[in-house]
Amino acid sequence: MLTNMINLPNLKILDMKESEYDYRFLVESTTPSPSHCPKCGAIPNLYKHGKKEQLFFDLPMHTKRVGLIIKRQRYKCRECNETFFEDLPDMDVKRSVTNRLLIWI
Ligand SMILES: [Zn+2]
Repeated sequence: MLTNMINLPNLKILDMKESEYDYRFLVESTTPSPSHCPKCGAIPNLYKHGKKEQLFFDLPMHTKRVGLIIKRQRYKCRECNETFFEDLPDMDVKRSVTNRLLIWI
């Protein structure tokens, strides 16, 4: 039921807080693990390397601002030792907003 609230099927809602002006969702991505390293192209020789919480803004809901705190998986490559974050297909990661918020603006 919480998942329907944000209607982003690639995200699973772990928690939600509502205040006078904001909704704040704690979410994680349900997209599959990457199939290769984006830095060196090695076929999966990756391991999970911690998670980092990153804040993204989404369309307002019921006149309140909506923030998505994504527990974003980080990976490290055994071949090249580079670290990188999982892809977030619904997000503009440079602007820290959802794609649909950009379209809406
Ligand atoms: Zn690599």
